[in-house]
Amino acid sequence: MKIVLASSNEHKVKEINAISLGEGIEFILPPAGFNPVENGKTFEENSLIKAQEAWKLTKTWTLADDSGLCIDALDGKPGIYSARYAETPLKRIERVLGEMKDIQNRNAHFACCMTLINPEGKVEYSYTGICEGEITQEARGKNGFGYDPIFLVKNTHNTMAELDDDEKNHVSHRFRALRKILDYIKEIK
Ligand code: IMP
Repeated sequence: MKIVLASSNEHKVKEINAISLGEGIEFILPPAGFNPVENGKTFEENSLIKAQEAWKLTKTWTLADDSGLCIDALDGKPGIYSARYAETPLKRIERVLGEMKDIQNRNAHFACCMTLINPEGKVEYSYTGICEGEITQEARGKNGFGYDPIFLVKNTHNTMAELDDDEKNHVSHRFRALRKILDYIKEIK
């Protein structure tokens, strides 16, 4: 089964392909012209916008992922603005660490909403996966992407960036969302 993956983030695409290895699904990238306007107010809305935009171009099965980091002490920020919180990944990390300076409550979570749309353009299934953790005092680790170096995974001593790809892909918010989607697809196939 082929599914158009409504994303242009190569890290996400790599993770999604690794998680779904052996599931009989080939994820393909959307054609040129895929340029969703992410003006939703939630991960769910933005995920739907991306999936619908890819469906309009392909009229086939599409899957979208919208994700980000939510920090309790910052009222859920950066949240849906995670990718735009500063100009570069490094500056985004610096901004978060700066805003968290002297803050005791470091609880945070990653969220990933995935939306699956069928060839008729209807939402088949949508699920938000969560990964709980804490914001570290400083960046640690070289793997992954985005905020991984400052996200200490709950019940471990490692940041997401200190986990190898396989370890991350068994605990991440993206894994939790995709697992539900893959199970759903197995049921309807
Ligand atoms: P999106 O492409 O609009 O969904 O934005 C997602 C942004 O959230 C990314 O650019 C990262 O900054 C952040 N993010 C989402 N998932 C992860 C992850 O697994 N690790 C680190 N950062 C992530």
